[in-house]
Amino acid sequence: MNKYHGRSTTVLRPRTAQEVSAIVRHCNERRIGVVPQGGNTGLVGGSVPVKDELVVSLGNMNSVRSFDDASGILVADAGCILQSLSDFLLPHDHVVPLDLGAKGSCQIGGNVSTNAGGLRLLRYGSLHGSVLGLEVVLPDGTILDQLTTLRKDNTGYDLKQLFIGAEGTLGIVTGVSILTAAAPQASNNIMLALPAFSNVLPLYKEVKRQLAEILSAFEFIDRSAYDLAVKHGQGRALDEADVAGADCFVLVETSGSSREHDEQKLYKLLEDLMGQEPSLINSGVLATSPAQFSSLWAIREGLTEAVGKEGKAYKYDISVPQDKFKEVLDITREHLASKGLMHDQAVKHVVGYGHVGDGNLHLNVVANAYTAEIESALEPFVYELVAKYHGSISAEHGIGVMKTHALPYSKNAVSIEWMKKIKNLFDPNGIMNPGKVLEL
Ligand SMILES: Cc1cc2nc3c(=O)[nH]c(=O)nc-3n(C[C@H](O)[C@H](O)[C@H](O)COP(=O)(O)OP(=O)(O)OC[C@H]3O[C@@H](n4cnc5c(N)ncnc54)[C@H](O)[C@@H]3O)c2cc1C
Repeated sequence: MNKYHGRSTTVLRPRTAQEVSAIVRHCNERRIGVVPQGGNTGLVGGSVPVKDELVVSLGNMNSVRSFDDASGILVADAGCILQSLSDFLLPHDHVVPLDLGAKGSCQIGGNVSTNAGGLRLLRYGSLHGSVLGLEVVLPDGTILDQLTTLRKDNTGYDLKQLFIGAEGTLGIVTGVSILTAAAPQASNNIMLALPAFSNVLPLYKEVKRQLAEILSAFEFIDRSAYDLAVKHGQGRALDEADVAGADCFVLVETSGSSREHDEQKLYKLLEDLMGQEPSLINSGVLATSPAQFSSLWAIREGLTEAVGKEGKAYKYDISVPQDKFKEVLDITREHLASKGLMHDQAVKHVVGYGHVGDGNLHLNVVANAYTAEIESALEPFVYELVAKYHGSISAEHGIGVMKTHALPYSKNAVSIEWMKKIKNLFDPNGIMNPGKVLEL
């Protein structure tokens, strides 16, 4: 994003939890701020120092500690890159129950600390369910060992849940125990072009009804986002004929145990959709080869990069009712136009994409440059809009440094008060990732 810059002079790269503990203890005694850093792919500035805090980078803690192919339970160092864990699991016929566009750089510790959602939450649920245990270095240097591999453990407060999504403000995650899933034997995808956004939800219902247990992703891409992906060479564009008249697109993925069975279901779905009068879709492209499968995904996964190449992006990762996605995009566009900001020298595009199944819209305002005028037009406007729909100002990216001031739009005063009490209990000296999640 290139939006946040710190002034740290020191980055330490420990190899063990004991080394992390020694660093943190030293910092706590001297009131030195510490910023845990994973793959640095976060989109809200959480891993960037606010001032001159010391950075603890987890990249050297990158070993798999154990894997049990009967239970599917994986225990790994927090610095393992998500893609390496997927590669490790491949020959064992298992997959990490999490997938995102940044998988080549983000780390499992960073994923846990941001409670990352991603492309397959629809299928595997959230990390609050699949993470079984954590090893965490607390702000006073104590190592909290909760690296259990038990699926059932009702022995009082489930402390690990506090660190999932804490964005490094309560401690440094050094080890993760996670329940992985049996690898699907067959995955397929299909890109559908829709004439109108109002067809997205009826389509979602129909897709769920027909694909049921094999549905693993249902991703929405609006027309402007698709055009940016194509412009910046992400994936192979659909044919002109398939795109003509499309208002938006939906990428559907299936993951099952029999290719033949899944393909039959997809062909039938496509046939039924095309046969309807009026049809919910204009056209559909079914991947017929692994290369085409990857290429269709590349359009969706390449959107963040495409937006970054097009200009400076104001990113809003919000939860709103699924039927309001387009309304949010339209209202934001109209609002910016009313301020005279919708032109090439100010805001070039307002684009939207996201995880329909999870009610998560990525609203991206792509500008020529970051300016105070655009920012004040967008905030608190977008947050007020989200609050009006009783949504969340951060569906999956977290609060980081970017949204601390906006927390009250999604959390009431009592909740924030208790968050502060918890922070103070774990970190009375305020050394752990200061200025993130809660305002300084
Ligand atoms: C192309 C692209 C696509 C993306 N797609 C998605 C998506 O679909 N879904 C989604 O949820 N996010 C997505 N993201 C955002 C980002 O990848 C996730 O938030 C990811 O989980 C961050 O992991 P990381 O290792 O890079 O963490 P970092 O960016 O290094 O850190 C993120 C936060 O976690 C803290 N942290 C990191 N490691 C630790 C640790 N070991 N212990 C304690 N705190 C720690 C940091 O201090 C910081 O507050 C995307 C980003 C990009 C660039």
